[in-house]
Amino acid sequence: MASVTAVPSSANAPSLKGSGDDVSTSKGMEDSIHSFKVADLVIELSQTHKAKPDLTNLVFGTVFSDHMLTIEWTNAGGWQKPHIKPFGNLSLHPASSAMHYGVQLFEGMKAYRGADDKVRLFRPMLNMNRMAKSAERACLPAFDRAELVECIRRLVQVDLEWVPQSDSASLYIRPTFLGTERSLGVKKPSHALLYVILSPVGSFFSTGAKPVSLWADSKYIRAWRGGTGDCKMGGNYGASIYAQHEAVHYGCQQVLWLYGDDHQITEVGTMNMFLFWNNEKGEEELATPPLDGLILPGITRQSILELTRKWGEFKVCERYLTMADLRCALKEGRVKEMFGSGTACVVSPVGRILYQGENLHIPCQEDFPQLASRLMKELTDIQYGRTQSDWSVLV
Ligand SMILES: *Cc1c(COP(=O)(O)O)cnc(C)c1O
Repeated sequence: MASVTAVPSSANAPSLKGSGDDVSTSKGMEDSIHSFKVADLVIELSQTHKAKPDLTNLVFGTVFSDHMLTIEWTNAGGWQKPHIKPFGNLSLHPASSAMHYGVQLFEGMKAYRGADDKVRLFRPMLNMNRMAKSAERACLPAFDRAELVECIRRLVQVDLEWVPQSDSASLYIRPTFLGTERSLGVKKPSHALLYVILSPVGSFFSTGAKPVSLWADSKYIRAWRGGTGDCKMGGNYGASIYAQHEAVHYGCQQVLWLYGDDHQITEVGTMNMFLFWNNEKGEEELATPPLDGLILPGITRQSILELTRKWGEFKVCERYLTMADLRCALKEGRVKEMFGSGTACVVSPVGRILYQGENLHIPCQEDFPQLASRLMKELTDIQYGRTQSDWSVLV
């Protein structure tokens, strides 16, 4: 059903080596050694093309493009050639360790089509750094991060028509890494599969612009010190669904994840958390919890910190925030805005928190408060190429 084509040259593909930025770089993990290479890419094009979905009522992650990238690894043979092939089911040994013990991790990034019709990725090396760090934690093999970005660029090039023509929709990119150890022993995998699938996602304006309501309770915790909360490993998310259901039961949309006896505020659903307020000393401050092992090192989080520090208009601080701090600040009228941050929505304002039977109302002025709006605009301007930035990488 499919034809085999020659490997196109990567002549127009600038190397990303050396553009590794900083946060989440995996220590002790060297690129270059025994990785797969984009130069070895084997492309098998699909003979059929699925119809593109209507983006207006598209549910996140339900529609996939025509192709996917797969790369296999074995301890004995090392990394195999990367393949781009028609999107389809995987065939896995039923004992695969990803299925039994959650030896699994993923990433979330997007390709954006600008008004100039060019397609861009946003700081993709930061996703690769984080993926390499998660892989190390999961005892999955190291890979060359720049080579993986190049393979992903090639996949997006093959499915370029799937990048929506829109100033707010995008093509979601889901790199996934599985332990495929064919044994029920709990051990470091000797077989692994890295793959990447693509899913068009609709406009965040049509769905995500309303402030979210949160259920804050210490009954369930998302992460703990020494755990895997700072890695995008599937188990973290599978284990959160129960709490998410309870949040909905209490009439809230998402969970505000608390930690410790003092109810530290850590994350909002699957987003990082920001509080814009006048702090205890009366200073105007944008605050977010520090990367202490509990917090997922979000690329949106890092970008917001870098942008606002560059503005230099208010204090920007990575610090602990407790529910008592928040409740006191609300009582004294010191809270300006609270929002979550992540690739899916960029920023998502918080409107209400249900905590210890009390509804805490977070000021939101209109639906989209000032700082959240400004960050949304600055970041999407970069993502869609309306502002020139070295955070953008052309596909
Ligand atoms: C992915 C994720 C985020 C956001 O990370 P981005 O890189 O900004 O998309 C925040 N918190 C959790 C728990 C996440 O899984």
